[in-house]
Amino acid sequence: MKSKKKSGQLYISLQAMHLIPLMILGLIITLVCYNTTASAMHAQVADELRNMCDAVALTYDLLYPGDYHLEGTEALELYKGDTAITFDYSIIDELKADTVIELTLFYEDTRILTTIRDESGDRIIGSGASTLVLKDVLTDGKPHFYTNTTIFNRPYFSYYAPLRNSDGTIIGMIYAGKPCSDVNKAVFTAVLPAILITLGCVLVVILISASYTYKLTSSLQKIRTFLSKVSTGNLGVELDPAVLRRGDEISDMGYSAIYMQSSLRTLVEQDTLTEINNRRFADKHLRQTQAHADLYGSTFVIAIGDIDFFKSVNDTYGHECGDIVLKKVAYTLKRHMTGKGFVARWGGEEFLFVYDNLHLEEAQQQTEALLAEIRELEIFYEDTPIRITMTFGLAEGEVGTRIKDLLQKADSRLYYGKEHGRNQVVI
Ligand code: GH3
Ligand code: MG
Ligand code: MG
Repeated sequence: MKSKKKSGQLYISLQAMHLIPLMILGLIITLVCYNTTASAMHAQVADELRNMCDAVALTYDLLYPGDYHLEGTEALELYKGDTAITFDYSIIDELKADTVIELTLFYEDTRILTTIRDESGDRIIGSGASTLVLKDVLTDGKPHFYTNTTIFNRPYFSYYAPLRNSDGTIIGMIYAGKPCSDVNKAVFTAVLPAILITLGCVLVVILISASYTYKLTSSLQKIRTFLSKVSTGNLGVELDPAVLRRGDEISDMGYSAIYMQSSLRTLVEQDTLTEINNRRFADKHLRQTQAHADLYGSTFVIAIGDIDFFKSVNDTYGHECGDIVLKKVAYTLKRHMTGKGFVARWGGEEFLFVYDNLHLEEAQQQTEALLAEIRELEIFYEDTPIRITMTFGLAEGEVGTRIKDLLQKADSRLYYGKEHGRNQVVI
């Protein structure tokens, strides 16, 4: 019965069994690696930004001692001590140039000094911070790190620290920030080698698994093909020796398939009593020989040999003795024909011979020699020596011969021999 499963299904299943968990593992390793690196880098960025806020506050304190305050009647200006700092960007610009960190100085909730610019390149002064930042930093008075603050449509890692005067009053905020894209790029660059190593390992395992699975499934496929050919009667098919060289359970399976083929061949092609080829196999062999002659224009000779007065052996010594005689004769015939041609038990005490690539006269000589050997044979049954003779009828086959006609010709010559004294070869 033919399997409903498609060819290659086992290969796919085995591959999936290995590769799906492997890919999941690879994905988990990558994610864990990314998350760990990202958290470490975010903490590092938070430290960096906090230090920057401290540095900005300290720089202003050192350069311009005194408190922050507004002065002026109409246009108010921010002072630090005695110095008006509203338009003095030099300090934050210099710090940004060294660190690539964006800086902003808020007076209350308004940006007074900033390094952040809009699309047209103008500093975004005068704008405010989000209500969340105002609550956390200005109202609650606590510094805060945010991983996603949108400033002018751009996401930033941001640190806001309250800006205090000498009496501790909060008068504004200092901001330090880095664009998220820069930080994420740095995280990705740090994680990339680990990702590549993981992908490389997964790839190597995929290749090893693919090759191993291919070898396994192709061996199984070869055994399957072998068995399906045997099951359709092709008992001469050979199993690829590579399957047997594996030295594992699959090659054991291969050996079992070969033993099964050999047992089937014995059952189908061998005569149980004499253990030489049976008539079924002889028919097949005859057809093959004729096909070969038709194809290559070769000749061949068939012979039908029959034991003379065999009935009297049975009648005199019993059926058991007749069997022993048949076995011994068959053994002698087989031994004689080895390397010369084919022999089978054609039925009862009749045997069929096929000489390949011979003409009638050559085959006659060979058969005469065989008959001489048979005449010399002494078969012992319970210490009684039994001697027998045989009669043979021969016929030559060539291109286009019909097997039926050939057998008939050999048979009628055998009959002629029987009628004319037996113990002879008739051509
Ligand atoms: P001829 O020379 O004319 O061939 O005489 P024959 O006695 O050999 O021929 P006949 O056809 O009269 O007898 C054949 C005998 O072979 C009859 C049959 O019982 C015997 N025989 C056939 N097959 C077997 C077998 O397997 N075992 C035994 N013991 N005898 C068998
Ligand atoms: Mg006979
Ligand atoms: Mg007979």
